[in-house]
Amino acid sequence: MIEWIRGAILGAQVVPSATPAIDALPKRVVLRRGRLVPWLGGRLSGMGAPAAAVTIGRTIILRPGVDLTPGLLAHELAHVRQWESDLLFPIRYSWATFRHGYRDNPYEVEAREAEVSGATADSDQEAIEWNDPS
Ligand SMILES: [Zn+2]
Repeated sequence: MIEWIRGAILGAQVVPSATPAIDALPKRVVLRRGRLVPWLGGRLSGMGAPAAAVTIGRTIILRPGVDLTPGLLAHELAHVRQWESDLLFPIRYSWATFRHGYRDNPYEVEAREAEVSGATADSDQEAIEWNDPS
């Protein structure tokens, strides 16, 4: 029941297929694919479009059809670290979005910096392959 509710809200859990790029994915991080949370994230942050991915705690929820590139993974892993480093992160993040907007939210600036260094650190720009049940 709990897993059904979790799946309905967060989307189905997906497992990346074996590929060298997935070494970058820490074991504690769960990947899911779902429409609801990225849609909500886009609405609440005022992006004007659904988010490519949203991170809640150690769960990354990818919008269906979005490729998990090394850059996007680095961006979302920065958000995982932000969640882990501060119990009040969701409140601080929301407040920062309210004050600065999505683009200039310092947490997003930090994640975009990780995105750039993550993408350049990995010369292989191929998107990660998925064993996607859907
Ligand atoms: Zn972000």
